[in-house]
Amino acid sequence: MKEMKGHLILLMGPMGSGKGTLVKHVQEQFPELQFAVSGTTRNMRPGETDGVEYYFLTTDEFDEKVKNNDFLEWAEFSGNKYGTLKSEILEQLDKGKVVLNEIELQGVQQLLPIVPEANRTLVYVESGQWESLRDRALARAPISEEHLVLRHERYLEEIQMKPYADVIIQNENNKQEDAKQQMANVVQDVFSKVNI
Ligand code: 5GP
Repeated sequence: MKEMKGHLILLMGPMGSGKGTLVKHVQEQFPELQFAVSGTTRNMRPGETDGVEYYFLTTDEFDEKVKNNDFLEWAEFSGNKYGTLKSEILEQLDKGKVVLNEIELQGVQQLLPIVPEANRTLVYVESGQWESLRDRALARAPISEEHLVLRHERYLEEIQMKPYADVIIQNENNKQEDAKQQMANVVQDVFSKVNI
């Protein structure tokens, strides 16, 4: 494993657990935090911008990048492809930056052997049972029955990652402010370590 200067914060948790809100919060609090923008073949949702939430790619463009070995990892999820671009993470870590990456299970499993333990913090966001997560997700965007079944299967897999987390953040509906504060504390701790 290659020696690295920076630090990677991996944010994981089931769909609808509120990872996006926590990301936005720390982005506002820590302008120096780097956010790895992933590539995806899924359709852009209202309010999203290409190059901000994701690089929105056609399937051909995505497959070309796979062929060129541009992804650190990629995974198919709910019928769409998602991939972490090498340039977005490794180059930043080499420069000594703190990088935040929101990622699902397969991505986490592929990244762990590449980034040394001392250079990463795994944060798991917990937010209630499947039923409440499902209802919140459906309120956010329409999802077909078929995709919902896939997401439920994925939920059952995602919750198995919890014991591997360095930090667990509770993000129930009434605990959002606490959760934001905890996430900010994690990032602050990392910055104090990296800057020593
Ligand atoms: P969404 O379509 O709701 O934005 O994201 C669906 C899932 O894809 C989320 O659980 C998100 O964490 C995951 N995801 C986002 N970017 C990547 C990536 O680069 N690689 C992998 N493996 N998963 C990703």
